[in-house]
Amino acid sequence: MSDVIQLLPDHVANQIAAGEVVQRPASVIKELLENAIDAQATRIQVVIKDAGKTQIQIVDNGMGMSLTDARMSFERHATSKIKSAEDLFSLTTKGFRGEALASIAAIAQVELKTKDDESEVGTIIKIEGSEVTSQEACVTLQGTSISVKNLFYNIPARRNFLKSDAVETRHIIDEFQRVALAHPQIAFDLFHNGNELFQLPETNFRQRITNIFGGKTNEKLVPVTEETELVEISGFVGKPEFAKKSRGEQFFFVNNRFIKSPYLNHAVTAAFDGLLKEKSYPSYFLYLKVDPRSIDINIHPTKTEIKFDDEHALYAILRSAIKHSLGQFNVAPVLDFERDANLDTPYEYKNREANVPGVEVDRDFNPFQQESNPGRSNSGSFRKEPAAGWESLYSGIQDETLDKEEVRHIEFESEEVTGSLFNSSESEAEKSTFQLQKKYIVSTLKSGILVIDQHRAHTRILYEELLKNITVSAAVSQQLLFPLKLQFSSHEMEMLGEIKESLEQTGFVFSSLERDSVEISGIPTLISESEVEMLLEQLLSDLENEVPNNGFSQTDLLARSLAKGMAVKSGMLLNNTEQQHIVNRLFACKEPSLSPSNRSVFVTLTVDELDKKFM
Ligand code: ADP
Ligand code: MG
Repeated sequence: MSDVIQLLPDHVANQIAAGEVVQRPASVIKELLENAIDAQATRIQVVIKDAGKTQIQIVDNGMGMSLTDARMSFERHATSKIKSAEDLFSLTTKGFRGEALASIAAIAQVELKTKDDESEVGTIIKIEGSEVTSQEACVTLQGTSISVKNLFYNIPARRNFLKSDAVETRHIIDEFQRVALAHPQIAFDLFHNGNELFQLPETNFRQRITNIFGGKTNEKLVPVTEETELVEISGFVGKPEFAKKSRGEQFFFVNNRFIKSPYLNHAVTAAFDGLLKEKSYPSYFLYLKVDPRSIDINIHPTKTEIKFDDEHALYAILRSAIKHSLGQFNVAPVLDFERDANLDTPYEYKNREANVPGVEVDRDFNPFQQESNPGRSNSGSFRKEPAAGWESLYSGIQDETLDKEEVRHIEFESEEVTGSLFNSSESEAEKSTFQLQKKYIVSTLKSGILVIDQHRAHTRILYEELLKNITVSAAVSQQLLFPLKLQFSSHEMEMLGEIKESLEQTGFVFSSLERDSVEISGIPTLISESEVEMLLEQLLSDLENEVPNNGFSQTDLLARSLAKGMAVKSGMLLNNTEQQHIVNRLFACKEPSLSPSNRSVFVTLTVDELDKKFM
């Protein structure tokens, strides 16, 4: 056989390498940001179009490049950062592989403009698909500006693989935040399609965190510091009562580089032991400084995992440092047996209760009057005074479901209960429900008994109602006397912007949406003002955890999340009218037997089944 092995041409080799370095627009942003930081920039601007798919531009005021270096920078394995293999063990820069620019230039149309402090004029180089198409002298300030257009233009398969703009933007924001958090002394801006997403002045760690995650974050932070021979720890953990329902705000930085470490994450969680509600995750922003010789960054191509020489010691130090801080700042009981009983109640509720104003009893209110009265549900009264406030929960919704005709036509899957579901005598039906353990509504059927999970049933009812509002007819809204201003991170505000219209259909009125806050002047009639913040937080966290792929499933997710938050909880006392209301409305639903998350809403026990038990 003749010889068959040949060297791959450079542009092919570069494309292959690009597959490892560049997965999506966010990877380009990460590499270019790191280059600007390595070039000692103090101000870095990122401008993207269409989630970075059309264009990514990064401008820095760093050291810039000479004409020769500018040309060299696009060669594979061309780097100014290491000279020998020895240097790999004492890295202080982010880059060292010399692959990023070569990879990016292989799969996009790139324009580099740069000037160092010694050159009179700068250089502008255009390169696409690894081919230099032009190189000229130009007038420019010291620093570097790189524009990357039409990523994957020459690899359609990769381009088609990119996700929706919303998803890609989220990835970009994630990368941007990680880099920005690691370098508070550098000013960063991020613009998307002409909108400013972040404008971060140079500052300290604490301010940077607050600038990114919103003004309220500051009061939630507990400082952590520890100095040992092995490691210097600084940074913050979030107070346990502000733990989130998603892992969003968890950051480790080792020598100013964002890393992922399930092992160290475990150390943090262990320090919070006993202080967190189930399925909630504490925020943390922890900066570790270690000897560069004691870590190996090289084990992962995208460099977010590293290996420590002495992981076990690190674990123990981290855990005890955080435990100490939580204790010192009085957020954790120092001695377990002196535990404050308050710490055992779910934090969210503990705090909320303090804000709820006293029970307002509207003496003129007649629960049996049919007329709707949208203003009333404002007092959160259904928690405190269910009897008086109940009907107002449904104000604004047509009461067509109380029509018993419809209920009669429900068919159950099991043969036995098909036909007339309830006892035919009206007055008997009125009294035929009771509540079990404040959790289940029990009702008699003609052929047996029916046990309904109150929370799931109400969730199903609200879910269908909300879906209808979002897709068909908008719900009525209750005006707030004073607009409610809520703060969110700019990332959360991005998401809120995406679902704004759907939310408006459910009755929300947004008087302004800013970069890190929202002003709400109207809310759905079904909720009270005090619930709004919790509902929206839960919604954003749900949206973040489940990435929907098309409009329909996002609507579905939205309705599911809101319904879950708005529904009566188990443990809530319901009077007879309320129980009836739930039963009636449930069986007017399209799918009464399942909750929106596909769990059984009720069970039946027929007389036949009972008879068998008594045999
Ligand atoms: P690496 O960062 O691993 O060295 P890159 O391909 O990212 O590899 O960059 C190649 C070289 O180009 C760098 O080593 C650096 O010398 C130069 N360079 C890249 N970006 C910049 C920049 N923004 N400012 C100054 N020099 C840069
Ligand atoms: Mg680099």
